[in-house]
Parts: sequence; structure tokens; C-alpha cells
Amino acid sequence: MNNKQKILIVEDEQSIINFVTAVLTVNGYDVIQAKTGAQAQSMATSHCPDLILLDLGLPDMDGLDVIRFIRGWTRLPIIVVSARTQERDKVEALDLGADDYITKPFGTSELLARIRTALRHASTANAATPAEAAVFQVGDLTIDYERRRIVVRGNEVHLTQNEFKIVSLLSRHAGKVLTHDFIIKEIWGPGLKGDNQILRVNMANIRRKIEKNPGAPEYILTEVGVGYRMAEGDS
Ligand code: CA
Repeated sequence: MNNKQKILIVEDEQSIINFVTAVLTVNGYDVIQAKTGAQAQSMATSHCPDLILLDLGLPDMDGLDVIRFIRGWTRLPIIVVSARTQERDKVEALDLGADDYITKPFGTSELLARIRTALRHASTANAATPAEAAVFQVGDLTIDYERRRIVVRGNEVHLTQNEFKIVSLLSRHAGKVLTHDFIIKEIWGPGLKGDNQILRVNMANIRRKIEKNPGAPEYILTEVGVGYRMAEGDS
């Protein structure tokens, strides 16, 4: 019986296909490949992969249209692969329902970490009764959701209600990037869409309270032009 998780690579550059296929195969994944958006759509429906690694720059169609198509019928995790010149597309891809992105050129460990995170979030989301952990821990940071307590390096830190909500939201999605608009909508509601200033101010205060060096944060990372990502928890 084959219990390997199946990953569909959608990519038109042969060198990247070869590299990614080799890395994933060695790490125990089954790999299937599509070189065009049309192929990707038909393979996604016929092979039911566990995850799609999707290049946005495809020869026959915009990768964003592939996301729209896939999201029309399934929540299966999609990790977008984008070039540096496609900064704006990252946000749009996430807003369309992509789970994460990785920027070319990327390394093996980054690729594998992104895939593990997306697969884990997918399996939690699919569970009949998703187990919400009571506590989140990464490094010297502990979040106790019920008591609304945050302890850093042994000391309790006092966050405002919104600061706590932001940290909780990011930690519930640890390892995954959340866009500015998504965070703002979750914390302040839809009225503030497009106004990142209030989020920046809150984030500066949070970092001052929880990071050893707010200029080089280790818990909440900045994804330039996109949003924030909480470091992966320890459990
Ligand atoms: Ca391409």
C-alpha cells in the first residue's frame, strides 16, 4: 500500500522541475508534474494530489486563474512559487485562497518546511473536531489562550486586547503567512481594509514587548509587502 503524500508540481522550467522533484522524492513524497495551467487543472481533478506547488508564470495562463479554478471545488493546499518581480501577485494569490508562497530562488529546507506546514494545517482543518491547543509555545514564548497570558523568557508580558488578538491569530496559523488585509479584517473588521498603519503601530508595540531585539524579530517575522508570519511552534 502506498501511503506517500502526493504533490503536484506545476512549473514550466525544466531545471526547477528536476530540482524540486529530486528533493521531494528523496524526502518521501510522490511527485506528479504539469507544465501548463491546463495540464494542472486536469491533473488536479484526476489525480487528487495532497498539495499543489504552483508557479505563477505559466506559458498558457495566469497561475492566479489556476488558483481560482482549484478553489472552485477544493481546499487542498496550494503553495505559490513566485519570482521577485511578482510581489503583488503574492498578495492576490493569498487572497484568492493560496495557503502560502515561496520566492525563487528558494532552498531545500525552506521548501520542505513550507510543504510540511501547509499539509499539517490542511489535516487540522479537515479533522471532524479540530483540536484547538490550549497553549502555543515557540522558543521562550508561551501563549496561554484561555488565561490570555503571554510569557516570554520567564516573564509575563502585558499586551492590550488587540495586541493579544493579533498574536493569537498569528500563532493559530503559525508557520503560515497572513496578509495585512486578512489580519486587519479579523481584528478590526472590514471597515479598515487598506489601512496598514494601525497594524504597523500595533506590531511595533508587540515586538517591543516580546522580542529580544525588535529590529531582528524571531517570533513574528515580516513578509515584506505581504504580511506577517509567526514562527512555527515547538510541539
Ligand atoms: Ca514559469
